[in-house]
Amino acid sequence: MPPAGGTLSAPVNVLRDWVDRGGSEDTSAYVDTQDSEPQSHSLPRLEVRSSAGKGLGLFTCEHIPAYTRVVDDDALLSLGPKENLPELWRKYLALPQEDRQCFESLSVHENQTSKEEDQIVKLKQRGYAEDEARKMSQVSSKYLSNAFNTEDRTAHGGLGGQQGSRWSSALFPTIARINHSCVPNCHPHYNLLSGAEVLYTLRDIEVGEELSISYFDMTSPFATRQARAKSWGFTCSCTACGRQGSFASGEYEGKLALVHHVVETQVSFMKTNTPAEDVETANRAIEIASDPDLPWLVASLPVLHKTLALRLQKANEWDPERFGAQFASVQSIFQEALKWELRTKGSQTLQRTDRR
Ligand SMILES: [Zn+2]
Repeated sequence: MPPAGGTLSAPVNVLRDWVDRGGSEDTSAYVDTQDSEPQSHSLPRLEVRSSAGKGLGLFTCEHIPAYTRVVDDDALLSLGPKENLPELWRKYLALPQEDRQCFESLSVHENQTSKEEDQIVKLKQRGYAEDEARKMSQVSSKYLSNAFNTEDRTAHGGLGGQQGSRWSSALFPTIARINHSCVPNCHPHYNLLSGAEVLYTLRDIEVGEELSISYFDMTSPFATRQARAKSWGFTCSCTACGRQGSFASGEYEGKLALVHHVVETQVSFMKTNTPAEDVETANRAIEIASDPDLPWLVASLPVLHKTLALRLQKANEWDPERFGAQFASVQSIFQEALKWELRTKGSQTLQRTDRR
């Protein structure tokens, strides 16, 4: 499977929208985002090779323990929220030969290539020569097939978000090689400070195992996951979607629905009139996401713990005599959120110290 990975959400529509609108003349200054520092030797050894039924994939050559940083990926190309095809084209042309080869080696998914002819016609109407329009369109398809949003991601393991938003995006060449699973063994996270996409393991990974990430919110219901996979040009047949083994009973989808509910309603918790019930629901979601048989769900634990702490605050009557104990309880839940944040995303301040 091509790393449709990338297209995860917003950037997909950005360039297309721009062409459809006839293009704006807003040409922001070109900013070179390249970082040519070598990868740290402390990261595990990985290799790209073919993955049954999925094209290429990324595999580990060594055993990797849970919660280990495995990739620290600098952007090959990136676009700001107001940048469009001309900026992308300019950045592509400015790439060093080696980076351009790397870009060319990435896959493109059919959903993108099927739109190229239309795009070429529009570019020609805007004065681009046939050859240039064709190449621009190919670069656009490849970028959109592999780029990630670099802001406003959901905090619980999803890379998704609202499609069509005009968010910043970037193409990370190593992570673009990773195939999707709704029961992934890794979790990607964009580090705002370093500008790199970092990847952490969610469980122990054995030698020769393929790395996987979820291209969208893995807690979404089955039908939503299938629809999102389809929009990126593939059918998900992971063990959860294929109802294989322990997933056969459908019980997993029920557990997932509860976790999804808490994650989805985290921002509206202040409006709830049932704080005690909400505390119970959040506790149940944490219990599910902590199940060692469902290790990928730990990516939801930071947001679940934060939600629980905030709901507990709301539910508490803050009895002056018990205030100390109540406060300590809320504080310890926040600490738990931080612990899981560090395990699944790393520390913003400590990252990449080995490279500087
Ligand atoms: Zn799936």
